[in-house]
Amino acid sequence: MLDTNSVIKELFSGLAALAVTRVEGAGAVIVVHATTRGGPVVCPACGTPTAMVHAFHVRAPADLPVDGRPVTLRVQVRRMRCQIDDCAMKTFREQVPGLLERYQRSTIRLTGQLRAVVQELAGRASARVLPALGIRAGRDTAIRSLLKIPLPDRPTPIVLGIDDFALRRNHDYATIVINADTGQRVDVLPGRGGQVVTD
Ligand SMILES: [Zn+2]
Repeated sequence: MLDTNSVIKELFSGLAALAVTRVEGAGAVIVVHATTRGGPVVCPACGTPTAMVHAFHVRAPADLPVDGRPVTLRVQVRRMRCQIDDCAMKTFREQVPGLLERYQRSTIRLTGQLRAVVQELAGRASARVLPALGIRAGRDTAIRSLLKIPLPDRPTPIVLGIDDFALRRNHDYATIVINADTGQRVDVLPGRGGQVVTD
């Protein structure tokens, strides 16, 4: 039996930008229903605050697992209407800074954990470890998150290890280059094959 209160408590510190309305814990996935906190939102085009709601949308990003079980948020966000007549932005969707990035299907904190695991266990190992942590990310998702990690400056490696991954099955490939001495990722290149490596 899921202790709803403990789930809310565990999630709450990171979800302070939201008002949690309900938690469903009966299925394989814990679903947390929430709304944004309301109040006026500043128009991104003209900078004028508006409290006029044009419509509601639901965003359903994956969030950090609880108790090894995957969590999906169902967040009702508002589409606001700018009240300045000659503003170029008639309506705009409110954002949830610090928690949700525009167009992303995972919360920022889940993406952070995913990247940390993938960075340590580049490639196939992370695809085996992530499900055990309750993070539902296929190998392709893991590799995409790897591609977005900025690369720090590193000394030139002496021995390279090379592997390639399918970003989409049988379509897009990427080649990962690893410093064989340290195990650190050197680069991730689009495409695969000898020519990519030579370039
Ligand atoms: Zn405006």
